[in-house]
Amino acid sequence: MFKKSLVLFSLLLTVACDMEAPQQAESPSKAAKPQQESTGPAHGQDTLETTLIHNAMIYTMDRGFSTADAILFDSSGRIHNVGGEQAMLEAFPDALRIDLRGRTMIPGLIDSHAHLYGLALSLSQAQLRDTSSKDEVIQRLREQEKHLSEGDWLLGRGWDQNDWPVKEFPSRADLDSAFPGRPVWLRRIDGHAGWANSAALAMADQDLSGDWQPQGGYIYRDEEGQASGVLGDGAMELVENAVPEISGELLQASLGLALQQMISLGLTGVHDMGINRKVLELYQQRIAAGQFPTRVYAFTDGAGETLDWLCENGAIEDASGRLSMRAVKLYIDGAMGSRGAALLADYSDDAGNDGLLFMPPEDLGAKIDKAMACGLQVGVHAIGDRGNRVALDALETSMQGYPDNPGRHRVEHAQTLTVDDIPRFAELGVIAAMQPTHATSDMYWVEGRLGPERVVYAYAWRSLLDSGARLALGSDFPVEQVNPMLGIHAAVTRQDTRGWPPGGWYPNEKISREEAVRGFTLDAAWAGFMEASVGSLESGKRADFIVLDQDVFEIEAAGIATVRVLQTWLDGELVYSYP
Ligand SMILES: [Zn+2]
Repeated sequence: MFKKSLVLFSLLLTVACDMEAPQQAESPSKAAKPQQESTGPAHGQDTLETTLIHNAMIYTMDRGFSTADAILFDSSGRIHNVGGEQAMLEAFPDALRIDLRGRTMIPGLIDSHAHLYGLALSLSQAQLRDTSSKDEVIQRLREQEKHLSEGDWLLGRGWDQNDWPVKEFPSRADLDSAFPGRPVWLRRIDGHAGWANSAALAMADQDLSGDWQPQGGYIYRDEEGQASGVLGDGAMELVENAVPEISGELLQASLGLALQQMISLGLTGVHDMGINRKVLELYQQRIAAGQFPTRVYAFTDGAGETLDWLCENGAIEDASGRLSMRAVKLYIDGAMGSRGAALLADYSDDAGNDGLLFMPPEDLGAKIDKAMACGLQVGVHAIGDRGNRVALDALETSMQGYPDNPGRHRVEHAQTLTVDDIPRFAELGVIAAMQPTHATSDMYWVEGRLGPERVVYAYAWRSLLDSGARLALGSDFPVEQVNPMLGIHAAVTRQDTRGWPPGGWYPNEKISREEAVRGFTLDAAWAGFMEASVGSLESGKRADFIVLDQDVFEIEAAGIATVRVLQTWLDGELVYSYP
C-alpha cells in the first residue's frame, strides 16, 4: 500500500523538529514497567507491530461522546484500545510510542455528499478565480501546464476582467506569446464567455473571421475582422466542440491531486454522488496500485446502465475496504439559484414560477422501485419543498413495497421543507444528507426566493435533529470548498467566515459542535453502512483518524474554519503530514 513504516517514521521525525508538531517515535520506555500483572489482554504482540499514541486529546466520537488520551492500534490497521494513558503505557510496554504533546485527535472525517470525480475534473483545469491581472492568469496557466502531456489542451475557468487593472476583454495575443503551440481555452467566471489563444481558435470548425455572427452568440473581432479571442455564449461552442476528451494520464494526475487535497484536509472518506462504471474502474486501478488514500462510498449516476450492471453483478465491496458501491443517486428537482427547485407555491421573487420537477412522481417511484428491488440504498436529490415532499412520498411508498431492502434511504440536500414534512424523516427512517456550507453560500439571496415564511424551514438542521432525524453532513465539493472544517463552522455558527451575520443566519437552526462533527463522522459512516468499521475511534474499528492543530471543541467558534489538519492516518498508516 503506502510507504511502509520506516519511511513514514523518518518522515515523522522531520516533522517533529519544526514548530510544535507532535513528537514521534520515542523508543519504548524500559523504565515504565507495568505495576500490575496485566491491565488487559496483550493483543497482537506476537506478530503484529503495535503503535501507541499517547498524551493526546482524543475525542472518540462514540455515541457517548467519550474522550481518551491514548490509542493503541496495530499494523493491520485495527484499533485495539482507546483509553487512559498511564494504564496503556504500562500495559503495552513494547508498542512503538508516539507522544502527541496534547494535540487533538478525532476520527477521520467523512464527506457524505460530494463529487470526487468532479473535483478531479475541475483540478484538470486551471483555476483563474480571483486573479488580479492577466500576468497572474499566465502564471497560473504555466503552473497547470506542468501536469499536461503533449496534445492536451490547456483549459481553465473563473477569469473576470473586472478584477484586473485593464477592465477590457482580453485577446488571443495575451496568450499567444506564452503558449504559441498549445491550444488554450478559458471560460469566464459566469460561463457566458470563453477566451482562446490563436492555436485554439484555429481548431474551430468554421472560419471565425468576417462579419457573420452565430445564432445566440457573439464573436469579438479586431479591426481586421479576425476573431480577437473572446467568444460569447452561443459562439463558445465553435471552439468547445474541438476540445478533446480528457486524456487518461491527465485524469489520473488530476485524481491524484483531488485525493491529496482530501487527505490534507482530513477527509478519510467520501460519498461520491453519482459515478459510472468507467470511473469505478479508474478507482479500482488506483486501489490496485496502492494509490487510493481514502474510502469511497459510491452512488450510481441514476437508474440507467450503471444500475443495471450493479443489479446484475451485485453490490461492490472492495476487499481493501476503500471502495464500495451499493447505492443509487436520483434527482427530482433542480437548484434554488436558477429557480429550478420545485416549490409548493410560486417563488417569492418570480410570480407564476414554482420551479420544475425533473420527472412525474410516478417515474421517480419506478426508479426507486428498481433500485430497492436490487437491495440497494437510494439517495434522492431534493431542494424545493415540493421536491422534498415528492421524494419523501415516493420513498415511503417504495419502502412499503420492499420491506427486505436494508433501507437507510436518503434525501440529498433536503434543503427547503415544510413544517409537516420535517418529522417524516425520523418517522420513515430517511436520512437527511445536508451540506452546511450551502446555507452560508445561499443566505445572501435565498430569502428573496422563498420569502420570510418559507425560509425558516430551509437548511433546518436543528429542527430535523430535534425531530429525531439523522443528519449526514457533507460539502457537495467541488460546488463548495473541500475543507470539512468550513462545514463544521457553518453548522455551528450559521455565519460566513467573516462572521456575517452577527449572531448567525436564522440562528435557531444552529447545531452543536458534537452534532456537527458526528454528522461528518459516525452518522456519515452510518449513512454509508460503514459504522461498524469507521466513524468513531473504538476498539475493533479501523484506525482512521486525524490530528488537529487546535481543539475544535474548545476554541472560539469563529476559529473553527481555521483549524488545520496536521496528520491524517488511514488504516493505521500515516497518509498525510503537514506540510
Ligand atoms: Zn451534489
